[in-house]
Amino acid sequence: MASYRLNLNQQSNGDYEVHKDDCDYYPKQNYDELGTFSSCTPAVDEAKRKYPFLNRINGCYWCSLSCHTT
Ligand SMILES: [Zn+2]
Repeated sequence: MASYRLNLNQQSNGDYEVHKDDCDYYPKQNYDELGTFSSCTPAVDEAKRKYPFLNRINGCYWCSLSCHTT
């Protein structure tokens, strides 16, 4: 299990990224704590549930590659 955060700073490609706690890019400011999950899939689902108006939520390439779709 790992804790996941959604970076609320939009990336240059328009995505909002979900990060795992051991990621080099784990957000330290302007983030939302999503909770503790077994993988990035439910973490991204939770981010999409909480932020339905952010239509480009994606997993981070470095820590959540299996959830990275762009
Ligand atoms: Zn990451």
